[in-house]
Amino acid sequence: MNVYLDNAATTKPCEPAVTAVFQNMVEDFGNPSSLHKVGLNAENNVTDARKAIAAALVCDPKCITFTSGATEANNTIIFGAARNYGRRNKKKIVVSAVEHPSVSEPIKMLEQTGEYTVVRIMPDRNGEISAEDFAAAVDENTFLVSCMMVNNETGAINPVKKIFSAVKKNYPDCVTHCDAVQAFMKLPIKSADIYADAIVVSGHKVHAVKGVGAMYIKKGVRIAPLVYGGGQENGLRSGTEPVPLIAGFGAAVRALMSTMKTAYNNAETINNYLLKGLSKFDFVKINSGMDNHCPYILNFSVEGIRSEIMLHYLESRGIYVSSGSACSKGVHSSVLTAMGVPGRLADSAIRVSICRTTTVGEIDALINALRDGYASLAKTK
Ligand code: PMP
Repeated sequence: MNVYLDNAATTKPCEPAVTAVFQNMVEDFGNPSSLHKVGLNAENNVTDARKAIAAALVCDPKCITFTSGATEANNTIIFGAARNYGRRNKKKIVVSAVEHPSVSEPIKMLEQTGEYTVVRIMPDRNGEISAEDFAAAVDENTFLVSCMMVNNETGAINPVKKIFSAVKKNYPDCVTHCDAVQAFMKLPIKSADIYADAIVVSGHKVHAVKGVGAMYIKKGVRIAPLVYGGGQENGLRSGTEPVPLIAGFGAAVRALMSTMKTAYNNAETINNYLLKGLSKFDFVKINSGMDNHCPYILNFSVEGIRSEIMLHYLESRGIYVSSGSACSKGVHSSVLTAMGVPGRLADSAIRVSICRTTTVGEIDALINALRDGYASLAKTK
């Protein structure tokens, strides 16, 4: 039996996505910019996908730009906002300290030019970011505020609406950016409701294929492109659109749309079942918080067993989890460290990330393997 519990890393493409990708490779293979029928079919398929993403984010399809993924979208927004808004005295960025590298690295690059000041807001012990800390850090010199909706290592849900609405109330010109990759198609996201100027999502985290993502950019917000060329995607992302990937993304989102609430309830049941199973082990310490927590991701530590050791043991039992981007080069997870998780626990962190089809039986398999794994690995230490 194979038990895949690493859905925050990537998901298995769903059938509608695979069918759409295939169809757009073998039939509607035209260039959307071509003026003939083959091109037009491809363009229509891109338009349909754009409508699907826009419906999921409750926005005008004109505000959606397709990219190669969330990494490119986050980079575009950060560097693009810096070029258009980070001028004169407006050189300050306020960002959570627990962002994905596709947000934290471009911001670090800006900081390293010596032109920009960056304030990083620390999470609490549950991994959550406080809206009050954000409000206190933002001032009239701030041109960009960035906070993810759901953390990819812990599942912590941040109060982005509270954070962004407070910023917008006092500084309407400050760009508010939200990496919503781990929240998309799990929690409802209404673009206008959360006061975000820019929202980023990724295809392969929602059962589409890798290599496609999208960004919502509110009308009137001026983000300079990273890539120049033929002017596709309203000039924001030149280059011939990867029509099969985009069509697959649209198909996946359409397929998930109507069952989001049921899927969330199922995820909550599975997460509670997992927590109950883990509570029997005194060697397990839960790192994720219990409140404001997205049930699709759970982070815990197996005391005394390094993440990779347990990960490979579980793999030998056909169970696939993640070390939660921990310590690949002997460096602890920056997210767990920022939360104040001690080094020895950060070293033994395991991230389990479920999807809408995860079953109780799969969790039983994980619990049994963890029990056996601890019994045999702790002995050999
Ligand atoms: N942001 C978050 C929160 C993520 O989890 C990921 C994927 N690990 C990304 C951004 C990057 O997404 P992509 O793979 O589409 O570039």
